[in-house]
Amino acid sequence: MMPSEILKGLSVTFRSMFRRRNTIQYPEQKKPTSPRFHGRHLLNRYPDGLERCIGCELCAYACPADAIYVQGAENTPQARWSVGERYAAIYQINYNRCIFCGLCIEACPTRALTMTNEYELSAPTRRGLVYDKPDLLAPVPAGAKAPPHADADARGAFTGLSLRSDRGALVRAVLEGVAYGLRDSLELLRELGVAPEKGRVSGGGARSSLWLEIVASALELPLERTVAEEGSAYGAALLAGVAEGAFADASEAVRACVRVRDTVEPNDAWARVYAEGYARFRALYPAVRGVENP
Ligand code: SF4
Ligand code: SF4
Repeated sequence: MMPSEILKGLSVTFRSMFRRRNTIQYPEQKKPTSPRFHGRHLLNRYPDGLERCIGCELCAYACPADAIYVQGAENTPQARWSVGERYAAIYQINYNRCIFCGLCIEACPTRALTMTNEYELSAPTRRGLVYDKPDLLAPVPAGAKAPPHADADARGAFTGLSLRSDRGALVRAVLEGVAYGLRDSLELLRELGVAPEKGRVSGGGARSSLWLEIVASALELPLERTVAEEGSAYGAALLAGVAEGAFADASEAVRACVRVRDTVEPNDAWARVYAEGYARFRALYPAVRGVENP
């Protein structure tokens, strides 16, 4: 190669070094979107945590890009996900296809589907841009319970009454019904792998030693009654202390502040009776569901 050609090449490089760059790093500076910008979708919830989506599929029919897939299913008395008869068991939006036109939003009869200002959508694979329901659902509002919810129309019932069922028996049945309800919650925790060795109780109901003995026997767990009676408010104050840095975490806050007044042990004889009673309690709900008030 001739020296003149080398110099010519170097001059091209040298000139290019001072030219304005056409390629910029992304994002050099994020620009705020306009308020009605069409970004990623959001599946909204009601304040109690239930999903607004009723799985009607109208959004999927309205989509010109065939980007939405919905598969509806029936809510059941035992498990309610939405306020309607149906909910979306499967909900997907394929962002490889979506053109962000917003027609799905217009089609939704329950305002379940809205669009956020989020525009940074990328994934290393094609499947990564197919958003499933958990990716699209709004978080559960503070203080609300994540679905499925239990039957909001459930009603109480006394069964097995005889002439010997006096006022005391009915009052005790109410206390035992609450204890069985708590056992339901405990069984849910056990299904999740939580194996508590004791429980803690506070508040007005905890003043009754009889009720605590019934609950401890139904749960088959010892119950520790705390010195502070206002359990929820006290716990909220401790969590505020964690948030403010007064405690490293909730465990440290509990160790530092929660004092146990006494312990109520399960009554073995009652626990045996309640183990059978709990099985009957579980069988009663589906049995009486059909004859409750509409
Ligand atoms: S914004 Fe338009 S293209 Fe995207 S899912 Fe909705 S209707 Fe389909
Ligand atoms: S998002 Fe709206 S239109 Fe789509 S299935 Fe749910 S309720 Fe129906």
